[in-house]
Amino acid sequence: ASAPPTSASGKPGIPGVGAIIAVASGKGGVGKSTTAVNIALGLAANGLKVGLLDADIYGPSVPRLLGLSGKPETQDGRTLKPMEAFGIKAMSMGFLVEEETPMIWRGPMVMSALTQMLREVAWAPLDVLVVDMPPGTGDAQLTMAQQVPLAGAVIVSTPQDLALIDARKGLAMFRKVDVPVLGIVENMSYFLCPHCGGRSDIFSHGGARHEAERLGVPFLGEVPLDLVIRETSDAGRPIVASAPDGPHAAVYRDIATRI
Ligand code: ADP
Repeated sequence: ASAPPTSASGKPGIPGVGAIIAVASGKGGVGKSTTAVNIALGLAANGLKVGLLDADIYGPSVPRLLGLSGKPETQDGRTLKPMEAFGIKAMSMGFLVEEETPMIWRGPMVMSALTQMLREVAWAPLDVLVVDMPPGTGDAQLTMAQQVPLAGAVIVSTPQDLALIDARKGLAMFRKVDVPVLGIVENMSYFLCPHCGGRSDIFSHGGARHEAERLGVPFLGEVPLDLVIRETSDAGRPIVASAPDGPHAAVYRDIATRI
C-alpha cells in the first residue's frame, strides 16, 4: 500500500483516506452541521466515497441529522466500524455515549476521543472525510485544527455582521495553522415565503460573498433559510438525500464541486 497522503499541515494522513476537509463556523447555530452533512452527501452524489466525522464532541448532531442510532460494531476488538446512512460512512461521539450523558471532559480527553475517531475507525477506502468541527475559534478548536491532518477548511456563516466577524476569526485560525481555507458558504442567505413566494433577507444578504472577496477566498454558494431544510434535518433525512432533484440539493452539490 502507498503511504497515506500528507496534509497541508504536514501531519500524516489516514491510510486509504484521500482528503480530510473541515467544516467550521465562528459561532454556533449558523447551520454548520446541517451544511457539513449536506456537503458530504453532495460530494457522494458527485460520485465520491465519503465519510463524515462529527468532531463536535460536546454537542454531536450527526446521528440525529442522518437518522442514525445504535452503537457501532468493533472489527477486531479495537477498530470501530463506521455507521452508514445514505451511502456515506459516519462516526460521532453521539454513537458512543448516551444522549442524556453530559460531557464534562477536559481537553486531553476530548483530544484522545477525537484521535480515536480519526485513527481507530475503519474509514478506508474514502475519497473525502468531512469533519464537522465544534463551533467557535477558541483554544480547543485551534488544537483540533492542529491535530487533524486537514487538507482544507470550509467556513459557514450567516450574512449577519456578528457571524461574519466570527467567521473572520475562523479564517485567521486556519491560516495560523497553515490549513488552506477552501471558501465560505452563506447559510440562511435569504428567506422565500412558502405562502406568498416573496423573498426576505432576514439576516441581511450577501455579507459572506463580500467577506470572501475581501479576504481573497472563494465564495462557495448561498443556501436559503427554508423550512424544508430544517424539517428534513430534524427528521434525519437530509435534503440532498430526500429531495435530490430539488433546488437545495443542486446548491449543495454545486458547493461540493467547488471544494
Ligand atoms: P450549528 O451546527 O451551526 O450549530 P445546525 O446545523 O445545528 O447549526 O443548525 C441550527 C438549526 O438551524 C437547526 O435546527 C437546523 O435545522 C436549522 N437550519 C440550519 N440551516 C438551515 C437552513 N438553511 N434553513 C432552515 N433551517 C436551517
